[in-house]
Amino acid sequence: MSDSPLTALARRAQLGANLAATHARIEAARAAYGRTDPVHLVVVTKNFPASDVDLLADLGVSDVGENRDQEGSRKYAEVAARALSWHFIGQLQSNKAASVARWADVVHSVDRARLVPALDRGASRHGRRLRVLVQVSLDGASGRGGALPDEVPTLAALIAASEHLDLAGVMAVAPLGADPWAAFRDLADIARALRQDHPDATWISAGMSADLEPAVAAGATHLRVGIAILGSRPSLG
Ligand SMILES: *Cc1c(COP(=O)(O)O)cnc(C)c1O
Repeated sequence: MSDSPLTALARRAQLGANLAATHARIEAARAAYGRTDPVHLVVVTKNFPASDVDLLADLGVSDVGENRDQEGSRKYAEVAARALSWHFIGQLQSNKAASVARWADVVHSVDRARLVPALDRGASRHGRRLRVLVQVSLDGASGRGGALPDEVPTLAALIAASEHLDLAGVMAVAPLGADPWAAFRDLADIARALRQDHPDATWISAGMSADLEPAVAAGATHLRVGIAILGSRPSLG
């Protein structure tokens, strides 16, 4: 991508317009579904350059999401001067957990017990605390990532008992081909059960560009939106 001032200005205008349209969608959904509590926007910048992260920060974005350790850590270093919260939303391998703990503030995608001590050690080594969410599979299979609903209490207890991790809540992606309204209602039930044991685990990370309205209706506290703001995603070469 060119860094010419004209291109940067055009990109800034496009991101600004898309961001405004997304905020309008979120506000309309909050009004329609009677949400009076805040709904936070995490802008998913995966596959887009650090220059876009920089422009988004100019435009008031406070939270960005990445799904790969290498790409996220590189962008984090490139825009280090920016006061941003970094969210890791991708499938996590335990050999990458310590590295993710260096740059991410929030990890949405913990779905196996072995990730927990790896993240805790990584956070400790880098002198940081991490917010952690349990990713839940809503289609009864764990193939595409996510713990089964009945595995959530054990994972949550492990996270809550870790010295450098704070259990924030749950995350899910609506299963392919499923009704997102029903899927996110299931997630809300799982979140409610979790809060009985962990009252501070109040985050529900759900809703992407295509399904943010059902997520807001079901009580999502954090939306993860990419293409509606950044445009169609270039593939990584
Ligand atoms: C890419 C991604 C998103 C954003 O999806 P869009 O369709 O670009 O809004 C949200 N959550 C996860 C886990 C993702 O991988």
